[in-house]
Amino acid sequence: MIVCKFGGTSVASAEQIQKVANIVKSNPARKIVAVSAPGKRSGDDIKVTDLLINLAMAALKNEEIEEKLQIVVNRFMAIADGLELDHTICDVIAEDLRERVQGDKSNEELFIDSIKAAGEDNNAKLIAAYFNSIGMPARYVSPKEGLIVNDLPERTYALPEAYANLSPLKYTKEIIVFPGFFGYTKAGILRTFDRGGSDITGSILAAAVEAELYENFTDVDCVFSANPKVVNDPVEIKEITYREMRELSYAGFSVFHDEALMPVYKIGVPVNIKNTNNPSAPGTRIVPRRSVTGRPVTGISADSGFSTLYVSKYLMNREVGFGRKLLQILEDENISYEHTPSGLDDISVIMRSNQITLENEERILARVKNELNADDVQMRHGFSMIVIVGEGMRNNTGLAARAATAISKTGANIEMINQGSSEVSLVFGVLQEYENQILQALYGEFFAHVRV
Ligand code: ASP
Repeated sequence: MIVCKFGGTSVASAEQIQKVANIVKSNPARKIVAVSAPGKRSGDDIKVTDLLINLAMAALKNEEIEEKLQIVVNRFMAIADGLELDHTICDVIAEDLRERVQGDKSNEELFIDSIKAAGEDNNAKLIAAYFNSIGMPARYVSPKEGLIVNDLPERTYALPEAYANLSPLKYTKEIIVFPGFFGYTKAGILRTFDRGGSDITGSILAAAVEAELYENFTDVDCVFSANPKVVNDPVEIKEITYREMRELSYAGFSVFHDEALMPVYKIGVPVNIKNTNNPSAPGTRIVPRRSVTGRPVTGISADSGFSTLYVSKYLMNREVGFGRKLLQILEDENISYEHTPSGLDDISVIMRSNQITLENEERILARVKNELNADDVQMRHGFSMIVIVGEGMRNNTGLAARAATAISKTGANIEMINQGSSEVSLVFGVLQEYENQILQALYGEFFAHVRV
């Protein structure tokens, strides 16, 4: 059995959904289909999820919502018309949206979640209706039938019992169309995953039914070894391990949601990233293991928006509990950290800048200074992390030196180096303004010389 997931652009219009039907029909093993909400039909279009967030915000502010609601209904109406479905399905969708908008607003986050999820939920109903209308027996299945998630305040994840609950779907005779992006708590409250989270739903389903393959259909032929917007014609990745993909998607590789790897990784279900617009292209396979031949480096990624908290104190290395107390201060502010490179008398904590505000920065600096008696403490912003990834890096000497030399040629200073103990990745912290130049230089060093 194959579980496939179709992303926003793959289900954005009637024409795209017809492609989806052809793909599903062409292999009878494709029995479970997870779908996103309709995404962008062209560059300047707006995703249904964003329209819904807009609608939810207006409802929270008690603003006029009818026009905003109608825009969403019209998107579905255009799809239904193109698929020659009758309008009852659109009435059902309009009714569903009205009900959601009138829902409980006492917790704003949950209210927004419930409206945001309407894109996937209604699209799944519509696609199931379309499959049936063209003679492909299909059934919409709601996440209520087993995709149990945790309660607030933690971010949303599927509870272990979700897998057992969804496992019987493997016996399905019809094609199951399952909405991505959300689940329900034990108390029946809807919660969405992070943006792009339909990938996670597909992965949960693939793990639950122990699929032989999880196909993730998107709008690119494959995953590239570097960002094609920065590097000319980067090498296509045919096969990559979970670990490599995890490291790359951490820093900017957005083709596949980084949280989506976990469920399939645990069971060892391979993933195939494919293109709805070019389904015969082999795509990129994400596998548990691969033979490492050829280049030591598989991909290079970069992501901006990092801040670093630098703390120095003489004899820090002898002070028991210093690190714990420092991280406790961040925990108290609900901040997660990414790296902690350290020396004898200093430590830097690197985190995503979007967690820092003027107020919490001030509080953190004051607490570190006063409670930990630090000699120096500074928060600096505007960093990028450049990540070099490859299973073949482990047995390769001199790789860090080659990378550092290539970076030095751009004139950038390396602010931080971090090599994970798995040795599949090497991370460099640099000032944001050098990011693209460094990416090009590293690509030149490890893949091919690029025209810049
Ligand atoms: N529709 C959601 C989003 O735009 C989830 C997804 O498409 O994966 O983020």
